[in-house]
Amino acid sequence: MSLALPEAMAGRVRMEQVQSILRLTPFMMGANILIAILVALAGRASPHAVGLAVWACAVVAYALLGLRGWVASRRRRSPNQIVSARGVRRIIWQAGLLGSLWAVLPILTMPAEGDLHGAMPMLVASVIAGMIGCGGFALLTLPAAAIAYSTPMALGALWALSTSHEPVLYALGGLLIFALAVVVASCLSHARIFVDRLVAAAELESQRQVVGLLLSDFEDGASDWLWEVDAAGRLTYVSDRMVAAAGAEKVDLLGRTMSDLCGAAEGPDGAVAALSALFAEQRTFRDVVVSIEAGEETRWWSLSAKPVHDLDGRFTGFRGFGADITRAREDQARISRLAHYDVLTQLPNRLTFLQALSRAWSEHGRADRKPRAAGCAVLCLDLDQFKGVNDSLGHAFGDDLLVQAAARLRDSVARQVGDRGLVARLGGDEFAVLVAPSPGAAGLSRLARDIVDTLSRPYEVRGHHALIGASIGIAEAPLHADDPDNLLKNADLALYQAKGDGRGAYRFFETAMDLWIQQRRELEMDLRHALEKDELKLFFQPLIGRDGDRIIGFEALLRWQHPRRGLVAPTEFIECAEQWGLINKIGEWVLNEACRTAVAWPSPLTVAVNLSPHQFASGNLVAQVRKALKASRLAPSRLELEITEGLLLQDSATTLDQLAQLKKLGVKIAMDDFGTGYSSLSYLWRFPFDKIKIDRSFVAEMQDNAAIADILRTIALLGRTLNLEVTAEGVETADQARLLSEMRCDQFQGFLYGRPMPVGDIPSFLLANTARRLRGEDLDDDWDDEAAVG
Ligand code: C2E
Ligand code: CA
Ligand code: CA
Repeated sequence: MSLALPEAMAGRVRMEQVQSILRLTPFMMGANILIAILVALAGRASPHAVGLAVWACAVVAYALLGLRGWVASRRRRSPNQIVSARGVRRIIWQAGLLGSLWAVLPILTMPAEGDLHGAMPMLVASVIAGMIGCGGFALLTLPAAAIAYSTPMALGALWALSTSHEPVLYALGGLLIFALAVVVASCLSHARIFVDRLVAAAELESQRQVVGLLLSDFEDGASDWLWEVDAAGRLTYVSDRMVAAAGAEKVDLLGRTMSDLCGAAEGPDGAVAALSALFAEQRTFRDVVVSIEAGEETRWWSLSAKPVHDLDGRFTGFRGFGADITRAREDQARISRLAHYDVLTQLPNRLTFLQALSRAWSEHGRADRKPRAAGCAVLCLDLDQFKGVNDSLGHAFGDDLLVQAAARLRDSVARQVGDRGLVARLGGDEFAVLVAPSPGAAGLSRLARDIVDTLSRPYEVRGHHALIGASIGIAEAPLHADDPDNLLKNADLALYQAKGDGRGAYRFFETAMDLWIQQRRELEMDLRHALEKDELKLFFQPLIGRDGDRIIGFEALLRWQHPRRGLVAPTEFIECAEQWGLINKIGEWVLNEACRTAVAWPSPLTVAVNLSPHQFASGNLVAQVRKALKASRLAPSRLELEITEGLLLQDSATTLDQLAQLKKLGVKIAMDDFGTGYSSLSYLWRFPFDKIKIDRSFVAEMQDNAAIADILRTIALLGRTLNLEVTAEGVETADQARLLSEMRCDQFQGFLYGRPMPVGDIPSFLLANTARRLRGEDLDDDWDDEAAVG
């Protein structure tokens, strides 16, 4: 049977066989010596006394030799030794020799005829039978040796018995044969089981090694580790990685229960209790998160395990793996914080606010609540003048200011309504306060007043003083809204109106505001279709040269010919168009229409087109301008683009880049409404404008206000210094024209010279102007009266 095995395995099998024989060798040899001496003593009075003595000496000598060999083999024994086939053969030979020695005994003591009643033959027969049994037992693992040992003995005995011609002894011989057969058969069968068991054990061992290798590989490579607990939940195995993660010594961990290990940092989530329950229920579990105290810090582990059972199906504990997920948890917490809080002010953000609002709504907001219960309220808040401060003093300054304002806002809300109020930053300089339950109109007014006062006190930021204010819109549920979205929207609407009321105002929502919204919605629908229905028109207002007699060009001003409302001014819909994302399409149409119209005018006449900041944001403005010029074949130098300071407030590099590209096309760039912005002068240095247009509010006031007249003079001077053309807008009277002309403005625009006119009126206007010039009159001479009316 060992033939089918690989040599290494066969060698190990032989080794085991030999080992098991060697284990019994001292007893066997002892028994040989003892029995041989007893037999010799028993036969000392018989006729075979001498022969028996010699035989016994031979057996004893052989047994002593065997013992010596046993001692030697024990000395050189080393683990994993293998035994060669020759070694086994030698044992078989030795067994055969010992058996043969014993075979001599019955032959030696063969009874003489008729001497059957002596005890000697019985003794010998019993001894031989016993020796066959014992030897067979001792050599059980090596059947060949057992056979080699017992067969000669049996043959010797049989031969001796057969020569006696005595029927009783024949029966004894039969018994001997039977004993031999049993010994041989059981040796063979046992040896097979022995080898099978050995092979199975060897296979198991090698499997264990492979699994061990895989596991150690896993432990080296992954962040996970292995652990094992016994039925009582005590750790019986911890891998090195787990030891490191626990920040403890291995000996401290072994024997501790998992719940005890994690119990130190038991949080309110009851993870340890859950773990204990899982242990108790002996259920497989995955990714149970527990915390443990590793030295100073709290660490988070994720544990998974399966119950382990022994062969009898008895529960013996859990085996599983764990991973330190502290980093992942921290990352998650950070991300969740980023998602819910504003990084700058640490206030809850819009998302958190909306979530809190919807929670508050279900508790306090719904109209179906008890009629006299308090509702919830939203205050929308916007910092006045923040954009100007932010822009003139820089974003870092603005950020610090926002942080301070946010802290004051939080304090004020805490003071007035305690923890009923939630303050959030919705974006930019917009904040919102949720109050649930609401303190009622009077309480809300008090809160709003306090917020406005608190935020309006001077700030000290980075060594500068700053003054800003706040406007607030308030809406209260269920009075002002029937869902949380509307509540917020209506508070926003009230804010919009509050801002219109002037600085530091607060306003409650009113239904009329909703009506206003309704109208805006209608307007939006109409405006969306205005382009398709060809309802947009361009009017043109002339720009006049310094001498007051020469037309330089026209500014294109948009009008909407609405079927019901009549002619709508751009102030009423441009802002909406910007909000609703329609301004790009409209702006493109204006560009094309203006260029197409202007190309028909006498050559040097220019056309000015107003641009919205949103057109820059879209990113395809330059392409639109290039296309309009190309399609109309208008010389680029005849196109002027008017931008406002609002555009430069956005301050993005792409804006300046687009302006530079436009200039490269050859078109002129004018700064419109100059003076109304925040820090106008600084922009003049940042971009090479061709023209500034002084806002008409300055022109209107300059006669009553010496300071304004001074500013205008300075601006005109500045224009000359920077080589810019200076245009005065909104010139309505001849006096204004005279004053501005003294200040050396380059161009004038206003009702005094001409109102915005439809394109069809331009030829006659130009003709009339030429005729006037031929008569040597100024344009303004004739129209003083009309202008006074306009
Ligand atoms: P703006 O660019 O400052 O245009 C001048 C505005 O002042 C025009 O109003 C014009 O009618 C008015 N105006 C001219 N002379 C006088 C005067 O002597 N006295 C008075 N009181 N007003 C005078 P309009 O046409 O209503 O345009 C208002 C604003 O709408 C424009 O201000 C401009 O910012 C914007 N806008 C007009 N057309 C467009 C356009 O096509 N695109 C964009 N984005 N904005 C446009
Ligand atoms: Ca303009
Ligand atoms: Ca203007």
